[in-house]
Amino acid sequence: MSATRIVLLGPPGAGKGTQAVQLAKHLGVPHLSTGDLLRDELKRGTALGLKAKTFMDRGDLVPDQVIIDMIHGRLEGTLGFVLDGFPRNIVQAQMLDKVAIIERVLHIQVPKAEVIARSIARRMCESCGRNYNLLSSPPKKEGVCDVCGGKLIQRTDDTREVVERRYQVQYENEIEGLLSFYRAKPGVLREIDGRRSVDTVFQEILRIVAN
Ligand code: AMP
Repeated sequence: MSATRIVLLGPPGAGKGTQAVQLAKHLGVPHLSTGDLLRDELKRGTALGLKAKTFMDRGDLVPDQVIIDMIHGRLEGTLGFVLDGFPRNIVQAQMLDKVAIIERVLHIQVPKAEVIARSIARRMCESCGRNYNLLSSPPKKEGVCDVCGGKLIQRTDDTREVVERRYQVQYENEIEGLLSFYRAKPGVLREIDGRRSVDTVFQEILRIVAN
């Protein structure tokens, strides 16, 4: 039987979102992206969204308690999920450990220079949230979503300066701690070479979650 409680780790721009959407659909479980949930809060102008905005704009981590309060209710009692962008540090991993047994943690590795170039070339549909990349997966028509016809925008935190800060603060500083946490759980952590095509990476992920 396939694993259904899955965490994707990796630097911003490694392709976690793209893989998470496909994997969740394949497994029939929810895709939970804390970044998407925060952007949704912001769009709706909630207090949580406004509080998170200053951290997001700078490329810093939103305080753990805000993230934990936001995601806690969506994790408990569910049969499965693909988590994308959570946990981002040890405190969040420990919280997750209390509410669910994680079966697979997939660490998608891509070198720094490549993820920075990818993030800057990233575009997102403002209506349906689908991701594009001007380098590797451009839309058929410039500036327009292939799926819903919505307008493609650049995330305000995808400028070079913020992307570099996100890489350092959210990935470089935290990843070793997270990897040691999950290495201590036999058979859970798997490394994936994320430099390959979206489809090749997806096929490997499917093999890993299937057994
Ligand atoms: P993402 O879409 O995953 O790149 O997230 C966008 C921004 O939301 C990040 O740069 C952080 O500021 C914030 N964020 C998303 N997930 C988390 C998390 N698990 N912990 C703290 N901040 C987060």
